[in-house]
Amino acid sequence: MKQPLFLKPVFHERIWGGTSLKSKFDYEISSELTGECWAISGHPNGQSTVKNGTHAGKTVGELWEEKREWFGDHPSPVFPLLTKILDANDDLSVQVHPDDEYAREYEEGELGKTECWYIIDCDEGAELIFGHKARTKEEFVRMIEDGKWDDLLRRVPIKPGDFFYVPSGTIHALCKGTLVLETQQNSDTTYRVYDYDRRDQDGKTRELHIRQSIDVTRIPHQTPEVTHRVEKRDGVEVTTYVEADYFTVYKWRINGRASFQQDQPFQLASVIEGGGMLHVSGEKLSLNKGDHFILPSGMDHFELEGDMEIIVSHV
Ligand code: ZN
Repeated sequence: MKQPLFLKPVFHERIWGGTSLKSKFDYEISSELTGECWAISGHPNGQSTVKNGTHAGKTVGELWEEKREWFGDHPSPVFPLLTKILDANDDLSVQVHPDDEYAREYEEGELGKTECWYIIDCDEGAELIFGHKARTKEEFVRMIEDGKWDDLLRRVPIKPGDFFYVPSGTIHALCKGTLVLETQQNSDTTYRVYDYDRRDQDGKTRELHIRQSIDVTRIPHQTPEVTHRVEKRDGVEVTTYVEADYFTVYKWRINGRASFQQDQPFQLASVIEGGGMLHVSGEKLSLNKGDHFILPSGMDHFELEGDMEIIVSHV
């Protein structure tokens, strides 16, 4: 019987990173500037590795190549999703991502990037940048050229538990004091449109991609429809946030004991709060905040027990 695959994440330092991944998730990291935890990743820029079972030591990308039956023989040439936790200890640059078509033409080997965010935690009064206020492309270009960033960028207040769906072509940025679980297409293509004119220790600014940003940004901005459907049954409350082209994302709020059938090609799961047990094929596996795992195709029915919150996604 197939077992869940528990994963060892990869951590990336970022100039806007901090220590929340260490302090809130207990990950062993030495850097004080850890910005990104690539928790479930088959991307060449940071592959997570299987920790348990017969496939221990294999990367997600290797498993996707060699054992596609574990993923319901899904036809994507690359592992299609990427789950990250981001610690924005400072403002991230304002950015936008291309769609598949643009990425295929200009970014060899990359997919477009549609993403979504579940706000795990944030400071009082925290915000993020989500969309812009230009009505036409001409206005968009003029406001960029004139540096009218305060007028152009759309700021949205946030609180823990909020969810944002960010299709490719949406101008966006996480701002200071935000801890987010991101589910996205497996892509690392970012066009930076504004970096607050920040300079590093050597007095250098980071590269901007204005032309590409103008090419790919949706004008005018449209805030996409988000589902927010809550279903309750014995031991679990399921909140569905988005059912879109690239992914479906929901939260399992476990309180007590609940049974599940894994009926997708595969599911990605991240424990973001609390802990408990996963019962499958007569085994008991402990679950703790910060654990990430894949529920493979054809896995036995399973039960979750405890007091915990798990963000789940599938293609
Ligand atoms: Zn992004």
